[in-house]
Amino acid sequence: MERIYLDYAATTPCDPEVVKAMEPYFFTKFGNASSIHSFGQEAKKAIEDSRETLALFLGAKPEEIVFTSGGTESDNFALKGVASALEKKGNHIITSVIEHHAVSEPCKFLEKKGFSVTYVPVDKFGLISPDDVKAAINNKTILISIMHANNEIGTIQPIAEIGKIAKEKGVYFHTDAVQTVGHIPVNVNELNVDLLSLSAHKFYGPKGAGALYIRKGTRIDRFMHGGDQEKGRRASTHNLTGIVGLGKAVNLSREKMDKEAKFQAALRDNLIKEIPEKIKEVYLNGHPTKRLPNNVNFSIKYIEGESILLSLDMLGLAASTGSACTSSSLEPSHVLLAIGLSHEIAHGSLRITMGRWTKEGDVNYLLECLPRIVDKLRAMSPLYENK
Ligand code: PLP
Repeated sequence: MERIYLDYAATTPCDPEVVKAMEPYFFTKFGNASSIHSFGQEAKKAIEDSRETLALFLGAKPEEIVFTSGGTESDNFALKGVASALEKKGNHIITSVIEHHAVSEPCKFLEKKGFSVTYVPVDKFGLISPDDVKAAINNKTILISIMHANNEIGTIQPIAEIGKIAKEKGVYFHTDAVQTVGHIPVNVNELNVDLLSLSAHKFYGPKGAGALYIRKGTRIDRFMHGGDQEKGRRASTHNLTGIVGLGKAVNLSREKMDKEAKFQAALRDNLIKEIPEKIKEVYLNGHPTKRLPNNVNFSIKYIEGESILLSLDMLGLAASTGSACTSSSLEPSHVLLAIGLSHEIAHGSLRITMGRWTKEGDVNYLLECLPRIVDKLRAMSPLYENK
């Protein structure tokens, strides 16, 4: 049976061109970038090339890029690094109720250390109001961290507007752009951000490689202590193959992103139109238009998301029922609860995310299978019987 992957928001396969670019750096060009011999210099050159490629892609300067192990590390670095550097200035941080755990958990950690955190709400589409962010700022606020697009419901936030407010108030602004870099245009100046997190495995690069953009002049303490790699901002021997792969993935996204986004948005809009026509009592989660081109998220009443996933998997279709990081827990997604869904409806959610190798036929196959699965599961559901 051919397997169809519709879970690109969880992770993407590496592009074969990325693997090809990485390969020599495992074998012949394997040097430690901190070594002064030619092996080391060859590695250093490859790292600096990737840094330049990424900087150019984001509208940043190469020295504003710090390579990390991925989105989680970049988010932790931004939050804990700024909190530590500015703790004498203030102890207040603003974030949202729908952030990924890579942001919300460091916030909880900082709360235990004496920081105070305001979690701004979202509307029923998962949108944050810039006015709410503005109203939350006080004279102790040192950082605002709002994600660019949500990993579950795909809603894209008004980051440029929030950034403008942060700039006017002299507060640092971080965005978790893990779901957007490589998929939609991301420019640090247009978005008015001081810090931005990204991760290679979300855009056809390798797992375990990412970066934090840090605007020149931003006060931030190091988070990994050890050697003086990355100009003393992030210790540890460079992940040479990962960084080379990240650079190649960026180059491929630059070439392909616009066309891919257009194609995926057409598939997305077709699913958004067809699913409610084929299945009764389904509700779209996230914003109807301000959403990632590859994201569809529905709540399907009277059934459990996990049952849908298992049934889809038996037919060769891989999707998700929330973020991969929380889908093993029985608690409903904090994002779905935040947009106002009841526990019952939140439990019946299905996320479909498409990518570089998704074909129209894959989506048609899903449209063929899903109504049958829902009928079957509803027929067994006591909730449906008693409705
Ligand atoms: N932030 C968002 C929005 C994500 O979707 C993810 C991964 O799912 C992360 C952070 C964590 O990134 P990584 O897996 O690279 O640590």
